[in-house]
Amino acid sequence: MRSARSKSTATWRNWAGNVAARPVRSVAPASPDELAAVLRKAAADGLTAKAVGSGHSFTSTAATGGVLIRPDGLTAIRSLDRAAGTVTVEAGVQLKHLNAALAAEGLSLTNMGDIMEQTVAGAISTGTHGTGRDSASIAAQITALELVTADGSVLTCSAAERPEVFAAARIGLGALGVISAVTFAVEPVFLLAAREEPMRFDRVMAEFDALATENEHFEFYWFPHTDNCNTKRNNRSQGPAAPLPAVRGWIDDELLSNGVFQAACALGKAAPGAIPGIARISSRALSARTYTDIPYKVFTSPRRVRFVEMEYAVPREAAVDAIRELKATVERSDFRISFPVEVRVAPADDITLSTASGRDSAYVAVHMYRGSRYQEYFTAVERIMTEREGRPHWGKMHTRDADYFRTVYPRFAEFTGLRDQLDPGRLFGNDYLRRVLGS
Ligand SMILES: Cc1cc2nc3c(=O)[nH]c(=O)nc-3n(C[C@H](O)[C@H](O)[C@H](O)COP(=O)(O)OP(=O)(O)OC[C@H]3O[C@@H](n4cnc5c(N)ncnc54)[C@H](O)[C@@H]3O)c2cc1C
Repeated sequence: MRSARSKSTATWRNWAGNVAARPVRSVAPASPDELAAVLRKAAADGLTAKAVGSGHSFTSTAATGGVLIRPDGLTAIRSLDRAAGTVTVEAGVQLKHLNAALAAEGLSLTNMGDIMEQTVAGAISTGTHGTGRDSASIAAQITALELVTADGSVLTCSAAERPEVFAAARIGLGALGVISAVTFAVEPVFLLAAREEPMRFDRVMAEFDALATENEHFEFYWFPHTDNCNTKRNNRSQGPAAPLPAVRGWIDDELLSNGVFQAACALGKAAPGAIPGIARISSRALSARTYTDIPYKVFTSPRRVRFVEMEYAVPREAAVDAIRELKATVERSDFRISFPVEVRVAPADDITLSTASGRDSAYVAVHMYRGSRYQEYFTAVERIMTEREGRPHWGKMHTRDADYFRTVYPRFAEFTGLRDQLDPGRLFGNDYLRRVLGS
């Protein structure tokens, strides 16, 4: 058997640049057997081990001072089963490659988040989600998982096989084992008609329930320091396809959302007093647009401006009240916020530590330009969300610990009990897991 490609140590950093780690060594196993050998060797050397994806988490969930397992050895699409409507891919496949490969076969995932740089295993492990009335997170679209556990066993799990492992490991926080392959449910590729429309904040609040109920995928962005929102409604369409003209797409997604926005954020960082004025001008400059395209071209867009982020899931019925309080808090404060607040929804799911586990949820995400002072703003938002039994995204900044999670996740002990069985020696431990899981 080949040994996993090993690299000498270098500092590992996440996308946002707010987390760094210095592993003892970094390896890229290319099969479940190589992965098992990597884990046995780490244990024999008295080291911890941790798989990383694309480093797009804002928390230190992927950080390790032991053996860092890179995703680049496990990037194959293993099989496609048209009759069953499933595709099995290795853990390190990036979502953008999965989306392109599926589209080439006339297939698609049902729902996804805002970007597609993440690896499949990294995305699911923290509960990455988009917005959906009926369709839930990426992890909720999995039908089976292959996991290499601390003792080097290769476990497969699904709703029928080891259902207790399947319930937990789809959003496993990297705590239960290293995922080597993921099987997704897929469907014939379809068209989504996207309708983006600026709307006043009070109208969005008054119509939030209707908008989230009447549309398959509803979300909105509120621009702090203004009464302006941009709403997005994506619904399945019979066609014909009417993609954004290439020039309009480039102007909106590259020039305005990345180039001009980057310049506005840099200006706001140098002169925070200018931020409310910039926000008023840029949010008024929004215009309505409609287009129809295949799912990943509607759901995702490039995000090049670097930021830090916190996101909380609250029970759906608490959302309007929480967002109104957030706006009032910003207005009373001297916070200066360049980034819009993003609000999405998800139906209840059955994954043990999913932020939507057992309850219909609304997600409220706040962002700050990288290098700006975010602490007071995020602290204020966290207070509003935790007063409503909010559950933070596992990959986005928060200050909660196991004592809190026990109170907002009815199945918390089920997860930690399974972890005690699968990883009693904490081979996959790190500081983040000690905080959020309690040991
Ligand atoms: C610009 C940007 C946009 C984003 N948009 C969204 C969004 O729309 N919706 C949303 O919900 N989130 C979003 N996120 C958050 C992001 O999707 C999550 O943090 C995701 O976990 C990152 O995936 P990754 O591949 O970078 O994994 P990493 O951040 O590298 O790792 C995440 C976790 O997965 C574990 N992991 C990685 N590989 C494996 C494996 N093989 N086996 C076991 N565990 C593993 C790691 O140990 C770690 O615990 C966004 C982040 C950024 C920076």
